[in-house]
Amino acid sequence: TDMDKGIVIPDDWPGYPLDLFTSPEHYCEDLECVYIPHGVIMDRTERLARNIMDDLGDHDIVVLCVLKGGYQFCADLVDCIKVLCRHSNKTLPMRVDFIRLKSYLNDQSTEDLHIEGAENLSVLSGKNVLIVEAIVDTGKTMKTLLDHVEAFSPKMIKVAGLLVKRVPSGTGYLPDYVGFEIPNRFVVGYALDYNEYFRDLNTKDSPRVSTYFKVWT
Ligand code: 5GP
Repeated sequence: TDMDKGIVIPDDWPGYPLDLFTSPEHYCEDLECVYIPHGVIMDRTERLARNIMDDLGDHDIVVLCVLKGGYQFCADLVDCIKVLCRHSNKTLPMRVDFIRLKSYLNDQSTEDLHIEGAENLSVLSGKNVLIVEAIVDTGKTMKTLLDHVEAFSPKMIKVAGLLVKRVPSGTGYLPDYVGFEIPNRFVVGYALDYNEYFRDLNTKDSPRVSTYFKVWT
């Protein structure tokens, strides 16, 4: 599973027309398409859970969920791992912790990345840590977070990322477990917040919200 880039979505993938699915009416005007249907996300997550079990089964792990965007993926991934445990002879005792990352600047710089909940990170010392993040764009956020986590000397760190963007300016950072590799488009849904997006945005260089990757339920 080392070089698994996930399901690769090509640049010319148009997504599915919105009117073939249901989506919240108040968002419709700003959404372009359903990019990755929820069911596909769930099926892929199930496979990531199996890969994680294969690598980490019979270890104790601390799951570190990166809020806010990561909460839905983390919940679904942990559920999948639990189901797998019930249906196999392996166990994967899990403790779940949460951190929230905030960059106080309006621009994309993560130099000033602030970690809320970092006071709990000392529990990671000597532990097997699985960081769960929704999306890796340039990879700067993950790099910064990894530096912080490594400072607490965990035994092992693995990272699960649902989405990884193909960006030319990226750090080339790849999570150990990748759900999908996607083009450089802005996606919302599945806990990747739409309102947050608008709040944090620079009006000058704001891109249009172009994609929507979950059918709201
Ligand atoms: P990076 O440091 O990898 O450039 O940025 C990662 C962070 O930017 C993510 O944790 C997420 O908060 C935000 N982000 C990047 N791309 C997207 C996107 O397409 N949609 C949303 N909702 N957030 C994004």
